[in-house]
Amino acid sequence: MTTPLPCFRNWLFAHAAEIDALLLDVDGVLMTSRRPLPGSRELVAALREHRIPFLLLTNDGCNSPGQKLADLAHSGLEFQPGELVSCGHALEECVAEQGWRDDTFFLMGDLGDPCYAQAARLRTTRDPAALEGDTCRGILIGEKSYDWEPTITAVFNFLVRHPAAPVVVPNPDIFFPLADGRRHPASGATAGFLGLLCRACGISLEPIFLGKPHAPIFRHAQRVVEQRVGHPVLPSRLFMLGDSLTGDIRGGRNYGTRTGLMLTGITSAAMLAASDLQPELVFTSL
Ligand SMILES: [Mg+2]
Repeated sequence: MTTPLPCFRNWLFAHAAEIDALLLDVDGVLMTSRRPLPGSRELVAALREHRIPFLLLTNDGCNSPGQKLADLAHSGLEFQPGELVSCGHALEECVAEQGWRDDTFFLMGDLGDPCYAQAARLRTTRDPAALEGDTCRGILIGEKSYDWEPTITAVFNFLVRHPAAPVVVPNPDIFFPLADGRRHPASGATAGFLGLLCRACGISLEPIFLGKPHAPIFRHAQRVVEQRVGHPVLPSRLFMLGDSLTGDIRGGRNYGTRTGLMLTGITSAAMLAASDLQPELVFTSL
């Protein structure tokens, strides 16, 4: 296992010339349970002072940038909307590539307010009756509260009738932490459950995942960084700093970015030591 370094900020300022932009995970890196983690305010102030380009990169697709930034502001961390990239933003390229613009998708739960799907020029409905006719092109799996029983039953039966219909999952995470320390199932788990149901009917569900560790969110972030710095940027000139081995580190490595793991979130030193997946660098504090 890589020997952990005590301070990310010290490493960054010694190596700033090696990177074009920093991709910063939010939960477990900058804040936890709506509280800032030690050193987060100082890091953000230093990034601004030294004009080091950065983006927040989050798998939170059920809060719009405004909602997520309000949470961060509650932690005393102030950001502009253009400084945050969510898995929901990657819907934009997905819709354009697949030619789905103005098509109607059935939305399970929420994808932020304002809605990332509508921003990506999709129409959405939450009415299970819409799945009975020919109105819906596919399924979008979001989060937050909805009536699971009629919704999952309607989606399951729609997929049995339309096994090739696209199922888009912005957030591939299986669960997310709640402010009180408990955990809440996330849309990756819903996709897994639907996959189990479909498999029992001989249908192989192949969802389109957009968030970390999948490439679409990194592609979107790369495009935003390129617009910001005004020149093409190689993935190897991006640095992904996160607290999740399976999301941040696997995602960064697959996309070709440099990677740093913070031991301030969901990954402990013992978990890291036991893992086959190793980041380039490890830090114990910001
Ligand atoms: Mg995290």
